[in-house]
Amino acid sequence: MLALFAATQSSMEALSGTLMTAKKRKLVSYDGALLLQRVHDDVVITLLVREFPDSPLPDHSKRKAPPLKSGGGFNAISSGPEKCAACSKTVYPSERVGAGGRAYHTSCFRCTNCNKILEPTSFSNVNKRNFCNTCFQTLVSKSGLNF
Ligand SMILES: [Zn+2]
Ligand SMILES: [Zn+2]
Repeated sequence: MLALFAATQSSMEALSGTLMTAKKRKLVSYDGALLLQRVHDDVVITLLVREFPDSPLPDHSKRKAPPLKSGGGFNAISSGPEKCAACSKTVYPSERVGAGGRAYHTSCFRCTNCNKILEPTSFSNVNKRNFCNTCFQTLVSKSGLNF
């Protein structure tokens, strides 16, 4: 416990030193000359420049920078064109079927067992494979869910 605290303390001192250096070099700006643990926990450090070509700043000090806005957060992940999980080609909204968190072309969304085109409202997803309900019931009755 003591060793852990000492380590935290010394890394905090190192961080403060780094930040003071950075402040002198006009890389960062914050209130107060020295950051002290707990006393200055609410000090806001503003990053004045984005990139430090040969900066001595360790990664953990960069964490104090305001988070980069990625313009939409979670939605940004799915904003690009989706790829069909079966044929890997782009899926447009008009021909898209979603199943198990993946996108398919309506014509690619088929039963793994009998190759019949599936209805988005009536299929079973097992181990990331899609089955029509008929095949699903047959397979389950034959081998349980281990198919
Ligand atoms: Zn496809
Ligand atoms: Zn089937």
